Amino acid sequence: MKKMYRCRYLAHGLYIHYDCFRHCHLSIHSPNERNNNYIIPYKGPKDKVDWTKVFEIKNQLVENMRNGDIPPFCKGCHWIEEFDENSPEQFQSDFDNYIDMIWIGHSNECNANCIYCFSYQEILEHRTIKGYDIFPLFKELLDKKIYNLEKEPNAHVSFAMGEPTILKNFDDIINLFAKYGNRHFALYTNGIKTSKMVLQVLKMENIDIRIVISLDAGSREVFKKVKKVDKFKDTCKTIKEYAGAAKESRPNALGVKYIIIPNVNDTKEEIDKWYDLCTKELGVKYLIADIEEKWFVRQSGEVPEYVKDLLRYIRNRCEQDNIAFEFYDRALVLNL
Ligand code: SF4
Repeated sequence: MKKMYRCRYLAHGLYIHYDCFRHCHLSIHSPNERNNNYIIPYKGPKDKVDWTKVFEIKNQLVENMRNGDIPPFCKGCHWIEEFDENSPEQFQSDFDNYIDMIWIGHSNECNANCIYCFSYQEILEHRTIKGYDIFPLFKELLDKKIYNLEKEPNAHVSFAMGEPTILKNFDDIINLFAKYGNRHFALYTNGIKTSKMVLQVLKMENIDIRIVISLDAGSREVFKKVKKVDKFKDTCKTIKEYAGAAKESRPNALGVKYIIIPNVNDTKEEIDKWYDLCTKELGVKYLIADIEEKWFVRQSGEVPEYVKDLLRYIRNRCEQDNIAFEFYDRALVLNL
């Protein structure tokens, strides 16, 4: 019997890249198909967006996926949901024309040079992409209710490329979406710069912000190897300030990550230093573990036992100390 599949991001996600729109920022498991995760070209306010076309493309892919024809860029993705083929009326709202998840990725400006950066290829090919004025697009999305908070009150804005806190209009973007009633934000930041706006937002009752800082080291020496900048102290200072602000409202609003990078930071000793620093000195209540993506892809997902043991080790320490814990994308699919 035919199976039915869906992905909520294929239906309602919009990744705003520096030269196009995509359905999401993922395609992790089909790296060679990533460029096919593409909707239309978009290079800034001079390009008028044909939203009818955007949703035609989305609806066709949603239909295909429901019929078991999974787009190549989605193959293997853990966001795909299987649902009951006897109830095809389920998830009909996947065909409704609105966006409820935005990833902001129009710039790759950054104050670090992480060896695992998603933007690494762009940095190599185009150097720094400063990004266009994204405000007219946001205003259009909000005013025309394409980004529709009535249809989906839990709609989500995520900063997904470059270092968001150094964007010149970072505060204005948060303020604009908050003014229209958006309550959910996700921030992937390196933590080198402490943002006053983030400190404020962390204390707000009506805004839910999820912050992820990938520290990846427990020492300055290893940090420099991963980030290629000497900013370990600055990052720790930010983590401590954010953790302090989060504690008052939602202790799990801040997650600190350790991305295991074979031959760089793959020792129990470094993990212990990171763990003790985060939990005993910086006040972090939520830790995340992952594996470096480019290495993972080169290995075709074949992860040696010692790396799995390190991931389990982090989880075990968190469980013992009652620290919230999560495996991230690559580590998550290992089902440890
Ligand atoms: S299935 Fe995965 S890759 Fe495909 S649109 Fe959804 S989140 Fe993106």
